[in-house]
Amino acid sequence: MKHITEYRAPGLIKSLAAEIRNRSRTPVRLMEFCGGHTATVFKYGLRQLLPDTVEMVSGPGCPVCVTDQSDLDRALALARIPDVILTTFGDLMRVPGSSGSLQTAAADGADVRVVYSTLEALALAKKNPGRPVIFIGVGFETTAPTIAAAIIRAKTEGLSNFHALSLHKTCPPVIDALLSQGQLNLHGLICPGHVSTITGTKAWVPLAEKHTIPCVVSGFEPADILQSVLMLVNQIESRRAEVENAYTRGCTWEGNVNAHKIMDTFFITGPAVWRGLGPVADSGLKIRKEYAVFDAERVFDVSPPPEVSSPAGCICGDILRGVKTPPDCPLFRSACTPSSPVGPCMVSSEGACGTYYAYSE
Ligand code: SF4
Repeated sequence: MKHITEYRAPGLIKSLAAEIRNRSRTPVRLMEFCGGHTATVFKYGLRQLLPDTVEMVSGPGCPVCVTDQSDLDRALALARIPDVILTTFGDLMRVPGSSGSLQTAAADGADVRVVYSTLEALALAKKNPGRPVIFIGVGFETTAPTIAAAIIRAKTEGLSNFHALSLHKTCPPVIDALLSQGQLNLHGLICPGHVSTITGTKAWVPLAEKHTIPCVVSGFEPADILQSVLMLVNQIESRRAEVENAYTRGCTWEGNVNAHKIMDTFFITGPAVWRGLGPVADSGLKIRKEYAVFDAERVFDVSPPPEVSSPAGCICGDILRGVKTPPDCPLFRSACTPSSPVGPCMVSSEGACGTYYAYSE
């Protein structure tokens, strides 16, 4: 193990780890859904602090990683339309599609720009009234409201040249799909704190009930994650399957009600294709037809190209389903590295392959 980062509250970490060791009797497999959680687990060496009875599995909670190859190809096709300015967050730039990445498209002359917010994309639309400015929206419930806010601003300011390709996804349906496949034999879920800030902790109740699985919403500090593991172990040992909140400083039961309203106004749920999992019902957020002028899917022909090919040898799909780990991939650390990524899990800061590369031998 290398690069383990010291934590400023070592006493707290030690006492939480000791309590987990004291409480844990039954062997359990717990999934941390979120790539941000996986990064914390590895950065701070949390797996090494857990008893042999507690196994941690990384889940598909990395929005860039789960973006399907066909959607990447649609983004590439948009970037290559003459006069289009394509805007995106940086992580997506280097993810390989079937025919290069957005970075290579930019090198070939496409106008692709990294932005840090949808407001930056709007500013570009204002500055370039004769050119379509398309924002590629990749993310979960956490960032979807920013697209809606951008549409409101574009409408108010009359920026009809601003368009968004919404590839946003919602998390509970995909966890339901994963659990329904029955391959993972999971005993507990560490649910994403940032998503729950929007959805509310109540969003996980149907999953806990349907699959009789304990769920704990967690923050992103090392102590948050160990606290969540302890709460899951306590639930399992006392044979409960409930939703608990270990992130009360960030999440409430109801979530962000204003964000719910804005999302309901601008989005409609539908199927979305997840890398490794295929289509998952009701897990996609599409822009409602009332706002069609701002919807890149309706304004441009962005149907998926007929031939979509995933990178040869890449097992990102299996890793995202939690059935394999990055060292299982024959390309890990050899053909695939952060400076020369073959698949999205090595590109994104929340991708499991990038995290394993940075923090494990
Ligand atoms: Fe894909 Fe690279 Fe991860 Fe292998 S190591 S699964 S090629 S991203």
